[in-house]
Amino acid sequence: MRAALLPGVGAPLEIVERDDPMPGPGEARVRIEACGVCGSDLFLQKGGFGVEKLPVVPGHEAAGVVDLVGPGVTEVSAGDQVAIYYIENTADAPRPNLGPNVRRMGVDVDGAFAEYVVRPVSTLIRPSGYVEPATLAVLTDAVGTAYHALVRIAQVKPGETVAVLGVGGVGSNAVQVAKTLGARVVAITRSAEKQDLARLLGADEAVSIADAAEAIGGYGADVVVQCAASAEMDEAAIALAGFAGRIVFVATTPESFSTRASTLVWRELTLLGSRGFTIADIEAVIDLYLAGKISTDHLTARLRPLEEANEALEDLRAGRVMRSVLVP
Ligand SMILES: [Zn+2]
Repeated sequence: MRAALLPGVGAPLEIVERDDPMPGPGEARVRIEACGVCGSDLFLQKGGFGVEKLPVVPGHEAAGVVDLVGPGVTEVSAGDQVAIYYIENTADAPRPNLGPNVRRMGVDVDGAFAEYVVRPVSTLIRPSGYVEPATLAVLTDAVGTAYHALVRIAQVKPGETVAVLGVGGVGSNAVQVAKTLGARVVAITRSAEKQDLARLLGADEAVSIADAAEAIGGYGADVVVQCAASAEMDEAAIALAGFAGRIVFVATTPESFSTRASTLVWRELTLLGSRGFTIADIEAVIDLYLAGKISTDHLTARLRPLEEANEALEDLRAGRVMRSVLVP
């Protein structure tokens, strides 16, 4: 099979020939039909997950068709369409997406910038109806991450005002998911183009940071979703929250932010971290998509063959796309 290998920190991906992987007991081989290229892949390339992770085949946002199953596997069979949950974890993990034994496809083990991957069947999700492969791939991470932050972590309620800072691959979907929860949504981005996209995806208002407090109105936002990776925006997120506000951090930056205890105390603010997503989140967003409640058109407009993996990363780095999807 062909795979796009990241040989070392800062290096371009190389197309390599590998033996087709064979599934063992409890595993299935998936023929990859689509794999999203996201900011985490750029982070991996920069050495962000650690130099010792490389070389590795990236790719954690994937969908395909089961092609071969290992001995004793009955949960899936050849021909089944599946989305892939990129994490393997141990039964004693505190949460499915957390813990010391998390093994991430495309970071800790070879990922889906490849024609095939072998995965434990426990990480495969069969959608309740057919979904286009590129859509199924981006639902897992780009939409699942937003869903996890809003539903599991911030627990947004109908009628709340949700401010979304940053309208990129995750923030754009935080806008959509917050609308499905019955929230009033203020999207915050300096880009006029992204403000338009946010409105198209249902934002009640889309403004730049200078106009955010006025657009949010009242005493501030009930929930602020921080999807813009900078310490300055971390601090802006805290400033935009109202009394009893929750600030959920999704984007990460190596820079520290600062606040005062009095800021948190006087407004009884809650600072929350949201890491990735779980299988339950993927199932939920697939169902939202199949019910016509969310769109992925803004994420799947740019399809590229595996051979153009470097161009896909470059498009993302330059901010020309929110996602590219590789179709191996
Ligand atoms: Zn990702």
